[in-house]
Amino acid sequence: SSATAPIRATLFPGDGIGPEIAESVKQVFRTAEVPIEWEEHYVGDQIDPRTQSFLTWESLESVRKNGVGLKGPMATPIGKGHRSLNLTLRKELNLYANVRPCYSLPGYKTRYDDVNLITIRENTEGEYSGLEHQVVRGVVESLKIITRQASLRVAEYAFHYAKTHGRERVSAIHKANIMQKTDGLFLKCCREVAEKYPEITYEEVVIDNCCMMLVKNPALFDVLVMPNLYGDIISDLCAGLIGGLGLTPSCNIGEGGIALAEAVHGSAPDIAGKNLANPTALLLSAVTMLRHLSLHDKADRIQNAILSTISEGKYRTADLGGSSTTTDFTKAICDHL
Ligand code: NAD
Repeated sequence: SSATAPIRATLFPGDGIGPEIAESVKQVFRTAEVPIEWEEHYVGDQIDPRTQSFLTWESLESVRKNGVGLKGPMATPIGKGHRSLNLTLRKELNLYANVRPCYSLPGYKTRYDDVNLITIRENTEGEYSGLEHQVVRGVVESLKIITRQASLRVAEYAFHYAKTHGRERVSAIHKANIMQKTDGLFLKCCREVAEKYPEITYEEVVIDNCCMMLVKNPALFDVLVMPNLYGDIISDLCAGLIGGLGLTPSCNIGEGGIALAEAVHGSAPDIAGKNLANPTALLLSAVTMLRHLSLHDKADRIQNAILSTISEGKYRTADLGGSSTTTDFTKAICDHL
């Protein structure tokens, strides 16, 4: 309620179109009277030795302290001697799960109109451990690391998510028939967690079969949980089912319950500063942040206003075939609130 103290959240407007779409989020939140006070942080123009990247130590501390944040796209600076921004965020904040809701937007026609699923990707290990070396000339090796601790953590998150979001089924996606030890351990951990959630149906689907089923009938799926590489691929496949990266939100979950929401797309330098960007992905990411904070009423209101605006079709940005500016589209959403 309006009587309670505002919640502080970190905002990284980011680069390129980032500041324009972040402005759109701030305006929509003001109009919906969301009790959030933004703490804005920009990517620095020099390397902070404490983070070895262009992200300042203060900005990371802000996310740790607030526990919630929203991140616009960040252009990766060229040059050596620093860590990538996204890698720094993932490592420093221990962002272990990437959550991507994917649902058909009513009124925006794609091949499917009944997609409503969530992909949950393990984000810290698996094939992305970065342990590659040459064994002998002409033979290289890449280590896929799966640990009980990280698998239990992401499985627990997936089942908890399903339970608290009224979902009925969790599918673990794997290739344990071939990767018997690694994916086998991942599945074993999922099964252990599943036993604690008897109200949620649990199933295991082999990744190749999962791809076929997703393309044939995405409505077969509810919540999907999987190791890093499979999650990277399947989450983009799912984004494609509903109209592309411009519409897809995501949220990263970190140690101690940190939630850092972000749009999936990049900084779109080709249209930056022209008032042409579609703020939908960042807005829907901000909605996932509100849900993480259990501000479901505000989340529903904002989500409905976005979906109604797109569905009406009067105000749409160029990427959705319209001719509205970012500010006109944002104003239309505010009018729906
Ligand atoms: P991009 O997503 O920025 O752009 C690809 C195409 O999609 C462009 O034509 C762009 O105009 C369009 N587009 C993207 N978002 C849009 C939006 N909201 N509204 C309308 N059109 C939109 O990908 P890119 O060009 O490969 O990358 C540009 C920069 O962004 C690079 O520096 C890259 O490193 C960075 N990047 C950052 C992130 C991130 O921070 N998570 C993700 C991807 C790329």
